[in-house]
Amino acid sequence: MSEPRVENLIIVGGGPAGYTAALYAARADLEPLMIEGFQWGGQLQNTTDVENYPGYPEGIMGPEMMNEFRAQAERFGTRFVTDDATRVELSDGGIQKVFLGDLEHRAKAVILAMGAEPRRIGVPGEIELGGRGVSTCGVCDGAFFKGQEVAVIGGGDSAMEDAIFVAKFASKLTIVHRRDEFRASKIMEERARGVENIEFLTPYAPKEFVSGEDGKIGKLVLEHSDTGEAKELEVGGAFVAIGHTPKSELVAGQVELDESGYVLVEEPSTRTKLKGVFATGDLVDHTYRQAVTAAGTGTKGALDAEWYLRDHPPSPEAHWAGMAGDVEGAETPAEPAKTGS
Ligand code: NAP
Repeated sequence: MSEPRVENLIIVGGGPAGYTAALYAARADLEPLMIEGFQWGGQLQNTTDVENYPGYPEGIMGPEMMNEFRAQAERFGTRFVTDDATRVELSDGGIQKVFLGDLEHRAKAVILAMGAEPRRIGVPGEIELGGRGVSTCGVCDGAFFKGQEVAVIGGGDSAMEDAIFVAKFASKLTIVHRRDEFRASKIMEERARGVENIEFLTPYAPKEFVSGEDGKIGKLVLEHSDTGEAKELEVGGAFVAIGHTPKSELVAGQVELDESGYVLVEEPSTRTKLKGVFATGDLVDHTYRQAVTAAGTGTKGALDAEWYLRDHPPSPEAHWAGMAGDVEGAETPAEPAKTGS
């Protein structure tokens, strides 16, 4: 069986960082292969109006924006695999391998852009009642709770943003937070406090999401953070908005991670400790996490990869690539298994 083609660059993850990296890499004639994920588009796929991305003065819907990012990367020659990478074998300056099940893709450089996902509280009922009144995305699901009493759990900007959005539909909304102080920015907290049907309940932490007779969430069991006093809150919906976890499990043990699982890079570059492996977007960033900052690091990733490839030109011994493990490869034609539309 012939060895798979060695790409210049594989980008893993189809969000703002990945698509921007693909755009820059494609315009640099690197013909990037993008493993964009089955649910490409990242967190913006679950977002409605985006009003803070420069260039869209009227705002744009998150999924539409991701479509445009993708189309722009495609226009310059990016190829897409619309599936999830299941495994990677990263190398320090050699051939980088990305697997989709048994199918192997190889490249001389890889940009990691897998993003982050919503954090869970980890109490009974939270997962079980997912889709039955418990949600991690207020802007996606808020409209289903018209006229109902709901809770938003969390004390950061995400919780405030979800609360303000969901309160447009709910009859009453309670923000439940485990401390009296809020992590949210002052402006977001004040906006939430200014909404007539939003109440604040602190310091309480959820202990259980309890189903009602209809099989959907009926109440939240809460515990006072200081006294341990139990309290019940009857709700028809609950939104968990307590932050995000980086999707770094694919590369754990291969690149350096911080204690929260974010990939460590040699800032201000996107270089990891492995030559030829770069990391971008929310996978790296636990501070800013904006589409525009992710896109910015995607740009840096593509430029870093381009400079790395420039300094590591293709070897004429390409056909040996992967056999020795550390030989720099070149092209032997083969198409990616599955291309997105
Ligand atoms: P965050 O700032 O990390 O806040 C998470 C909140 O959830 C904290 O209040 C935390 O409580 C609480 N929490 C965490 N684990 C919990 C648990 N197990 N049980 C109960 N509560 C728990 O996350 P974020 O709100 O997603 O914001 C992340 C970043 O994105 C921030 O930099 C934020 O400014 C930005 N952001 C901005 C906007 C905007 O400007 N429109 C919107 C969304 C996000 P403690 O405070 O007690 O730790």
